[in-house]
Amino acid sequence: MPQLTSKVGLIVGVANKRSIAWAIAQAASAEGATLVLSYAGERIEDNVRDLAATLPNVTVLPCDVTDDEQMDALFESIRAEHGGLDFMVHGAAFALREDLAAPFVQTSREGFRVALDVSAYSLVALSARAAPLMAERGGGSIVTLSYLGSSRVFTNYNVMGVAKAALEASVRYLASDLGPQGIRVNAISAGPIKTLAAAGISGFSGILQTYRDRAPLRRTVETSEVADAAVFLLGPAGRGVTAEVLMVDAGFHAMGV
Ligand code: NAD
Repeated sequence: MPQLTSKVGLIVGVANKRSIAWAIAQAASAEGATLVLSYAGERIEDNVRDLAATLPNVTVLPCDVTDDEQMDALFESIRAEHGGLDFMVHGAAFALREDLAAPFVQTSREGFRVALDVSAYSLVALSARAAPLMAERGGGSIVTLSYLGSSRVFTNYNVMGVAKAALEASVRYLASDLGPQGIRVNAISAGPIKTLAAAGISGFSGILQTYRDRAPLRRTVETSEVADAAVFLLGPAGRGVTAEVLMVDAGFHAMGV
């Protein structure tokens, strides 16, 4: 029995076919979900529309998460079209390129603000708008995407690591606020995967190789593996799990020297 039949989900963060959010969209669709994909900026709209056309029951809407009006319009459209929302996947992240190459200590005020706004506050802002629509359905599930750089230092991950720390803390506070309405909030901490966002991090290939050398599974993970974990958290199998950061990283996080 498909796990997300008759569920409506919003997926934020599809840019191209390599996006982790796209793998989650495909997996959720295969489980029977009706999807709304949001995209940030006209530059990637065609990409997202082409991908969406390969799945049944998908609508595509604009939403730059730094723009409150676009966020309001997105949720108004979802309410008008679907009357409610069952799950949301948050896969938006951004940092200025110079902040992912220079030493962290040189992070500018503006670079810090932008990274934390797009990559962490956006989860709070989207959850606030999603919650009433989920409450009308009797509950819901929210999943965001994090990285181990939230709690360990990875060269050049820099301000994005600080943003992921804020994101994971936000997951716990949101889970506490929204739990009484039956809304669960979790993060998946994925191992490194070559995507558009990852291409911005200097020395990313070296990080991938370190995982191949040292992770218990002696490999990196694929977007489909993150997607399967997301379906677990989004669907009924994850009904007892909230405020959690689930590691999907071939076990790398457990290793010391
Ligand atoms: P990606 O580049 O495909 O996805 C990042 C998305 O963020 C893009 O769709 C982009 O359009 C969106 N975005 C950026 N600014 C935005 C804005 N202002 N409004 C709305 N959306 C905006 O790369 P990805 O690796 O699939 O990243 C998805 C998530 O997974 C990110 O949170 C990333 O930090 C996280 N993650 C990635 C890895 C990895 O190694 N690739 C590992 C762990 C976690």
